[in-house]
Amino acid sequence: MMIIMSTEATEVQIDEVLAKIDTLGFTPHTSRGAERTVIGVVGNNPINARDTFMVMDGVDRIVPISRPYKLASREFIAENSTFPLDGVQMGGDGVVLIAGPCAVEDRNQLLETALACQEAGAHALRGGAFKPRTSPYAFQGLGEKALEMLAEVREITGMPVVTEAMSPEQVPLIAKYADVIQIGARNMQNYSLLNAAGESQTPILLKRGMSATIEELLMAAEYILSHGNRKIILCERGIRTYETSTRNTTDINAIPVLKSLTHLPVILDPSHSTGQWQYVTAVARAGIAAGADGLIIEVHPNPEKAMSDGGQSLKPEKFATLVRQIRGIAEAVGRYVPPSKVPQKMQGQA
Ligand code: PEP
Ligand code: MN
Repeated sequence: MMIIMSTEATEVQIDEVLAKIDTLGFTPHTSRGAERTVIGVVGNNPINARDTFMVMDGVDRIVPISRPYKLASREFIAENSTFPLDGVQMGGDGVVLIAGPCAVEDRNQLLETALACQEAGAHALRGGAFKPRTSPYAFQGLGEKALEMLAEVREITGMPVVTEAMSPEQVPLIAKYADVIQIGARNMQNYSLLNAAGESQTPILLKRGMSATIEELLMAAEYILSHGNRKIILCERGIRTYETSTRNTTDINAIPVLKSLTHLPVILDPSHSTGQWQYVTAVARAGIAAGADGLIIEVHPNPEKAMSDGGQSLKPEKFATLVRQIRGIAEAVGRYVPPSKVPQKMQGQA
Protein backbone atom coordinates (compact mmCIF):
# COMPACT_ATOMS: atom_id res chain seq x y z
CA MET A 1 0.00 0.00 0.00
CA MET A 2 1.00 3.64 -0.26
CA ILE A 3 0.89 6.22 2.46
CA ILE A 4 0.31 9.59 0.82
CA MET A 5 1.60 12.30 3.13
CA SER A 6 -0.18 15.63 3.08
CA THR A 7 1.48 18.53 1.27
CA GLU A 8 2.11 20.19 4.66
CA ALA A 9 3.65 17.10 6.32
CA THR A 10 6.82 17.93 8.25
CA GLU A 11 10.05 15.93 8.23
CA VAL A 12 9.33 14.90 11.82
CA GLN A 13 5.93 13.51 10.83
CA ILE A 14 7.47 11.63 7.90
CA ASP A 15 10.10 10.17 10.24
CA GLU A 16 7.41 9.07 12.69
CA VAL A 17 5.57 7.23 9.94
CA LEU A 18 8.82 5.60 8.79
CA ALA A 19 9.56 4.50 12.37
CA LYS A 20 6.06 3.01 12.74
CA ILE A 21 6.49 1.08 9.48
CA ASP A 22 9.72 -0.34 10.85
CA THR A 23 8.17 -1.24 14.23
CA LEU A 24 5.40 -3.16 12.49
CA GLY A 25 7.96 -5.19 10.53
CA PHE A 26 7.31 -3.66 7.09
CA THR A 27 9.75 -1.95 4.74
CA PRO A 28 9.26 1.64 3.59
CA HIS A 29 10.22 2.89 0.11
CA THR A 30 10.05 6.64 0.07
CA SER A 31 9.37 8.67 -3.02
CA ARG A 32 9.77 12.42 -2.54
CA GLY A 33 7.86 14.40 -5.15
CA ALA A 34 7.89 18.16 -5.62
CA GLU A 35 4.50 18.42 -3.91
CA ARG A 36 4.39 15.62 -1.40
CA THR A 37 6.06 12.48 -0.11
CA VAL A 38 4.63 9.07 -0.91
CA ILE A 39 5.78 6.10 1.16
CA GLY A 40 5.37 2.65 -0.32
CA VAL A 41 4.94 0.06 2.41
CA VAL A 42 5.84 -3.49 1.49
CA GLY A 43 5.68 -6.69 3.47
CA ASN A 44 3.06 -9.23 4.36
CA ASN A 45 -0.35 -7.55 4.05
CA PRO A 46 0.51 -4.04 5.27
CA ILE A 47 -3.04 -3.02 4.40
CA ASN A 48 -4.13 -4.66 7.70
CA ALA A 49 -2.33 -1.82 9.49
CA ARG A 50 -4.13 0.84 7.49
CA ASP A 51 -6.03 2.28 10.48
CA THR A 52 -2.83 2.66 12.51
CA PHE A 53 -1.33 4.90 9.83
CA MET A 54 -4.55 6.70 8.97
CA VAL A 55 -4.62 8.46 12.36
CA MET A 56 -0.98 9.59 12.29
CA ASP A 57 -0.18 13.29 11.90
CA GLY A 58 0.79 14.34 8.40
CA VAL A 59 -0.90 11.36 6.70
CA ASP A 60 -3.35 12.42 4.02
CA ARG A 61 -4.61 9.02 2.82
CA ILE A 62 -3.78 5.38 2.32
CA VAL A 63 -4.02 3.83 -1.13
CA PRO A 64 -3.78 0.08 -1.64
CA ILE A 65 -1.69 -1.15 -4.58
CA SER A 66 -3.76 -3.76 -6.36
CA ARG A 67 -0.92 -5.35 -8.38
CA PRO A 68 1.23 -8.08 -6.85
CA TYR A 69 4.33 -6.11 -7.87
CA LYS A 70 4.14 -3.02 -5.74
CA LEU A 71 7.26 -0.88 -6.18
CA ALA A 72 7.38 -1.63 -9.91
CA SER A 73 3.79 -0.58 -10.52
CA ARG A 74 2.57 2.65 -12.03
CA GLU A 75 0.15 2.82 -9.13
CA PHE A 76 3.13 3.50 -6.86
CA ILE A 77 5.06 5.78 -9.22
CA ALA A 78 2.93 7.34 -11.96
CA GLU A 79 5.67 9.09 -13.94
CA ASN A 80 8.40 7.31 -15.91
CA SER A 81 11.49 6.44 -13.89
CA THR A 82 14.63 7.77 -15.49
CA PHE A 83 18.31 7.62 -14.64
CA PRO A 84 21.41 8.85 -16.40
CA LEU A 85 23.56 6.45 -18.33
CA ASP A 86 26.72 8.44 -18.75
CA GLY A 87 25.32 11.40 -20.65
CA VAL A 88 22.05 9.96 -21.95
CA GLN A 89 18.87 9.60 -19.94
CA MET A 90 17.43 6.09 -19.70
CA GLY A 91 13.63 6.18 -19.70
CA GLY A 92 13.36 9.80 -20.89
CA ASP A 93 12.29 11.05 -24.32
CA GLY A 94 15.59 10.00 -25.88
CA VAL A 95 15.83 6.50 -27.32
CA VAL A 96 18.93 4.76 -25.96
CA LEU A 97 20.88 2.47 -28.28
CA ILE A 98 23.07 -0.26 -26.81
CA ALA A 99 25.12 -2.23 -29.31
CA GLY A 100 28.09 -4.55 -29.45
CA PRO A 101 29.08 -8.17 -29.79
CA CYS A 102 27.28 -11.02 -28.09
CA ALA A 103 30.59 -11.99 -26.47
CA VAL A 104 33.91 -10.22 -26.04
CA GLU A 105 36.32 -12.32 -28.10
CA ASP A 106 39.48 -10.22 -28.15
CA ARG A 107 40.56 -6.60 -27.75
CA ASN A 108 40.54 -5.77 -31.45
CA GLN A 109 37.14 -7.28 -32.10
CA LEU A 110 35.72 -5.32 -29.18
CA LEU A 111 37.39 -2.00 -30.00
CA GLU A 112 36.57 -2.20 -33.71
CA THR A 113 32.93 -3.03 -32.96
CA ALA A 114 32.62 -0.34 -30.30
CA LEU A 115 34.04 2.41 -32.50
CA ALA A 116 31.85 1.40 -35.44
CA CYS A 117 28.73 1.25 -33.27
CA GLN A 118 29.52 4.59 -31.70
CA GLU A 119 30.10 6.22 -35.05
CA ALA A 120 26.75 4.83 -36.19
CA GLY A 121 25.06 6.38 -33.16
CA ALA A 122 25.18 3.87 -30.28
CA HIS A 123 25.29 5.27 -26.75
CA ALA A 124 26.41 2.19 -24.83
CA LEU A 125 28.45 -0.92 -25.52
CA ARG A 126 27.31 -4.46 -24.82
CA GLY A 127 29.63 -7.47 -24.65
CA GLY A 128 29.40 -10.71 -22.70
CA ALA A 129 32.29 -11.74 -20.47
CA PHE A 130 30.47 -14.62 -18.78
CA LYS A 131 28.20 -16.31 -21.30
CA PRO A 132 25.21 -18.49 -20.39
CA ARG A 133 25.42 -21.09 -23.17
CA THR A 134 23.01 -23.92 -23.82
CA SER A 135 25.93 -26.31 -24.38
CA PRO A 136 28.69 -26.68 -21.79
CA TYR A 137 31.06 -27.27 -24.71
CA ALA A 138 30.30 -23.90 -26.36
CA PHE A 139 32.44 -20.79 -25.80
CA GLN A 140 31.74 -19.66 -22.24
CA GLY A 141 33.28 -16.18 -22.46
CA LEU A 142 36.68 -14.81 -21.46
CA GLY A 143 35.61 -13.94 -17.91
CA GLU A 144 37.52 -11.24 -16.08
CA LYS A 145 39.92 -10.75 -19.02
CA ALA A 146 36.89 -9.64 -21.05
CA LEU A 147 35.86 -7.27 -18.26
CA GLU A 148 39.29 -5.66 -18.44
CA MET A 149 38.92 -5.24 -22.20
CA LEU A 150 35.50 -3.68 -21.73
CA ALA A 151 36.97 -1.24 -19.21
CA GLU A 152 39.75 -0.32 -21.62
CA VAL A 153 37.36 0.22 -24.51
CA ARG A 154 35.12 2.31 -22.29
CA GLU A 155 38.16 4.42 -21.48
CA ILE A 156 38.90 4.92 -25.17
CA THR A 157 35.35 5.48 -26.42
CA GLY A 158 33.63 6.92 -23.36
CA MET A 159 30.80 4.43 -23.91
CA PRO A 160 29.16 2.99 -20.81
CA VAL A 161 29.35 -0.79 -20.72
CA VAL A 162 26.63 -3.44 -20.29
CA THR A 163 27.69 -6.98 -19.38
CA GLU A 164 26.06 -10.00 -17.79
CA ALA A 165 26.38 -11.44 -14.27
CA MET A 166 25.40 -15.08 -14.00
CA SER A 167 25.64 -15.57 -10.24
CA PRO A 168 25.27 -13.46 -7.09
CA GLU A 169 29.00 -13.76 -6.42
CA GLN A 170 29.76 -12.14 -9.78
CA VAL A 171 27.72 -9.02 -9.05
CA PRO A 172 30.41 -7.07 -7.14
CA LEU A 173 33.04 -8.08 -9.72
CA ILE A 174 30.90 -7.00 -12.69
CA ALA A 175 29.93 -3.80 -10.87
CA LYS A 176 33.65 -2.89 -10.67
CA TYR A 177 33.85 -2.81 -14.47
CA ALA A 178 30.36 -2.27 -15.85
CA ASP A 179 27.92 0.64 -15.92
CA VAL A 180 24.94 -1.71 -16.28
CA ILE A 181 24.72 -5.30 -15.06
CA GLN A 182 22.69 -7.58 -17.32
CA ILE A 183 20.61 -10.40 -15.89
CA GLY A 184 19.93 -12.77 -18.75
CA ALA A 185 16.73 -14.55 -19.73
CA ARG A 186 17.90 -17.82 -18.20
CA ASN A 187 18.44 -16.13 -14.85
CA MET A 188 15.33 -13.97 -14.67
CA GLN A 189 14.04 -16.02 -11.76
CA ASN A 190 17.37 -16.65 -10.06
CA TYR A 191 16.26 -15.07 -6.82
CA SER A 192 19.62 -14.94 -5.10
CA LEU A 193 21.01 -13.17 -8.18
CA LEU A 194 18.06 -10.73 -8.17
CA ASN A 195 18.64 -10.01 -4.47
CA ALA A 196 22.35 -9.41 -5.05
CA ALA A 197 21.45 -7.08 -7.95
CA GLY A 198 19.10 -5.25 -5.61
CA GLU A 199 21.85 -4.71 -3.11
CA SER A 200 24.09 -3.17 -5.76
CA GLN A 201 23.60 0.44 -6.84
CA THR A 202 24.67 -0.29 -10.42
CA PRO A 203 21.78 -0.16 -12.92
CA ILE A 204 20.37 -3.56 -13.88
CA LEU A 205 19.22 -4.66 -17.33
CA LEU A 206 16.69 -7.40 -16.58
CA LYS A 207 15.78 -9.60 -19.52
CA ARG A 208 12.48 -11.40 -19.74
CA GLY A 209 12.76 -15.15 -19.25
CA MET A 210 12.03 -17.08 -22.41
CA SER A 211 8.86 -18.58 -20.92
CA ALA A 212 8.05 -15.85 -18.43
CA THR A 213 4.83 -13.90 -18.38
CA ILE A 214 4.90 -10.13 -18.17
CA GLU A 215 3.75 -10.37 -14.57
CA GLU A 216 6.60 -12.76 -13.72
CA LEU A 217 9.06 -10.29 -15.26
CA LEU A 218 7.64 -7.52 -13.10
CA MET A 219 7.77 -9.73 -10.00
CA ALA A 220 11.46 -10.38 -10.78
CA ALA A 221 12.01 -6.62 -11.00
CA GLU A 222 10.22 -6.30 -7.67
CA TYR A 223 12.93 -8.43 -6.01
CA ILE A 224 15.56 -5.96 -7.20
CA LEU A 225 13.50 -2.92 -6.20
CA SER A 226 12.63 -4.34 -2.79
CA HIS A 227 16.34 -4.79 -2.07
CA GLY A 228 16.96 -1.12 -2.73
CA ASN A 229 18.07 -0.75 -6.35
CA ARG A 230 15.68 1.44 -8.31
CA LYS A 231 17.69 1.62 -11.51
CA ILE A 232 16.22 -1.16 -13.61
CA ILE A 233 15.79 -1.49 -17.38
CA LEU A 234 13.33 -4.18 -18.48
CA CYS A 235 14.11 -5.97 -21.72
CA GLU A 236 11.79 -7.89 -24.01
CA ARG A 237 13.98 -10.41 -25.82
CA GLY A 238 11.43 -12.76 -27.33
CA ILE A 239 9.58 -15.69 -25.86
CA ARG A 240 9.26 -19.38 -26.73
CA THR A 241 6.18 -20.15 -28.78
CA TYR A 242 5.22 -22.96 -31.17
CA GLU A 243 6.67 -20.89 -34.05
CA THR A 244 9.96 -22.26 -35.34
CA SER A 245 10.73 -19.84 -38.20
CA THR A 246 12.58 -17.60 -35.80
CA ARG A 247 14.65 -18.36 -32.69
CA ASN A 248 12.06 -16.71 -30.44
CA THR A 249 8.87 -14.76 -31.00
CA THR A 250 9.06 -11.04 -30.37
CA ASP A 251 6.25 -10.19 -28.01
CA ILE A 252 5.76 -6.70 -29.36
CA ASN A 253 2.65 -6.40 -27.18
CA ALA A 254 4.87 -6.58 -24.13
CA ILE A 255 6.22 -3.10 -24.83
CA PRO A 256 3.00 -1.07 -24.55
CA VAL A 257 1.71 -3.46 -21.87
CA LEU A 258 4.83 -2.97 -19.74
CA LYS A 259 4.81 0.77 -20.35
CA SER A 260 1.28 0.92 -18.98
CA LEU A 261 1.91 -1.34 -15.97
CA THR A 262 5.26 -0.04 -14.81
CA HIS A 263 7.25 3.18 -14.53
CA LEU A 264 10.51 1.34 -15.32
CA PRO A 265 12.22 1.87 -18.71
CA VAL A 266 11.55 -0.86 -21.28
CA ILE A 267 13.86 -1.79 -24.14
CA LEU A 268 13.76 -4.39 -26.91
CA ASP A 269 16.42 -6.90 -27.95
CA PRO A 270 15.50 -7.75 -31.55
CA SER A 271 18.69 -9.82 -31.97
CA HIS A 272 17.65 -12.56 -29.54
CA SER A 273 13.95 -12.12 -30.21
CA THR A 274 14.39 -13.00 -33.90
CA GLY A 275 17.67 -14.93 -33.88
CA GLN A 276 18.33 -14.01 -37.54
CA TRP A 277 20.09 -10.84 -38.65
CA GLN A 278 17.76 -10.47 -41.65
CA TYR A 279 14.83 -9.65 -39.34
CA VAL A 280 16.60 -7.57 -36.71
CA THR A 281 16.16 -4.15 -38.34
CA ALA A 282 12.44 -4.59 -39.10
CA VAL A 283 11.69 -5.74 -35.57
CA ALA A 284 13.86 -2.99 -34.07
CA ARG A 285 11.77 -0.44 -35.98
CA ALA A 286 8.60 -2.07 -34.64
CA GLY A 287 9.94 -1.87 -31.09
CA ILE A 288 10.55 1.86 -31.23
CA ALA A 289 7.22 2.42 -32.95
CA ALA A 290 5.58 0.46 -30.10
CA GLY A 291 7.11 2.77 -27.50
CA ALA A 292 10.34 1.09 -26.39
CA ASP A 293 12.81 3.35 -24.58
CA GLY A 294 15.74 1.79 -26.36
CA LEU A 295 17.27 -1.17 -28.14
CA ILE A 296 20.04 -3.62 -27.41
CA ILE A 297 21.51 -5.03 -30.61
CA GLU A 298 24.26 -7.54 -31.38
CA VAL A 299 26.86 -6.26 -33.84
CA HIS A 300 29.96 -8.10 -35.06
CA PRO A 301 32.48 -7.07 -37.72
CA ASN A 302 32.71 -10.70 -38.94
CA PRO A 303 29.48 -12.42 -37.97
CA GLU A 304 30.45 -15.59 -39.84
CA LYS A 305 33.45 -15.96 -37.48
CA ALA A 306 31.63 -14.95 -34.27
CA MET A 307 32.08 -17.27 -31.31
CA SER A 308 28.46 -16.84 -30.30
CA ASP A 309 25.26 -15.61 -31.95
CA GLY A 310 26.88 -14.75 -35.31
CA GLY A 311 23.68 -15.58 -37.18
CA GLN A 312 21.78 -12.82 -35.44
CA SER A 313 24.58 -10.23 -35.39
CA LEU A 314 24.46 -7.22 -37.70
CA LYS A 315 27.54 -6.03 -39.55
CA PRO A 316 28.41 -2.46 -38.51
CA GLU A 317 27.13 -0.95 -41.77
CA LYS A 318 23.77 -2.68 -41.31
CA PHE A 319 23.63 -1.32 -37.78
CA ALA A 320 24.29 2.18 -39.15
CA THR A 321 21.32 1.80 -41.50
CA LEU A 322 19.18 0.63 -38.60
CA VAL A 323 20.10 3.73 -36.57
CA ARG A 324 19.21 6.03 -39.47
CA GLN A 325 15.80 4.40 -39.75
CA ILE A 326 15.24 4.45 -36.00
CA ARG A 327 15.83 8.21 -35.96
CA GLY A 328 12.87 8.69 -38.31
CA ILE A 329 10.62 6.32 -36.38
CA ALA A 330 11.54 7.88 -33.05
CA GLU A 331 10.58 11.28 -34.37
CA ALA A 332 7.26 9.95 -35.68
CA VAL A 333 6.34 8.81 -32.16
CA GLY A 334 7.49 11.96 -30.38
CA ARG A 335 10.91 10.69 -29.34
CA TYR A 336 14.44 11.34 -30.58
CA VAL A 337 17.80 9.61 -30.73
CA PRO A 338 20.37 11.65 -28.77
CA PRO A 339 23.78 12.10 -30.40
CA SER A 340 26.45 9.57 -29.44
CA LYS A 341 29.77 10.70 -27.98
CA VAL A 342 32.87 11.47 -29.94
CA PRO A 343 35.51 8.99 -28.69
CA GLN A 344 37.56 10.80 -26.04
CA LYS A 345 40.97 9.54 -27.13
CA MET A 346 40.16 10.04 -30.79
CA GLN A 347 39.27 13.71 -30.58
CA GLY A 348 41.58 15.87 -32.61
CA GLN A 349 43.15 12.87 -34.33
CA ALA A 350 43.18 12.70 -38.11
C1 PEP B 1 22.82 -12.10 -24.56
O1 PEP B 1 22.43 -10.94 -24.36
O2 PEP B 1 23.82 -12.40 -25.25
C2 PEP B 1 21.98 -13.21 -24.03
C3 PEP B 1 22.49 -14.40 -23.73
O3 PEP B 1 20.68 -12.85 -23.94
P1 PEP B 1 19.41 -13.66 -23.37
O4 PEP B 1 19.66 -13.80 -21.90
O5 PEP B 1 18.28 -12.74 -23.70
O6 PEP B 1 19.33 -14.97 -24.09
MN1 MN C 1 23.83 -13.25 -27.58
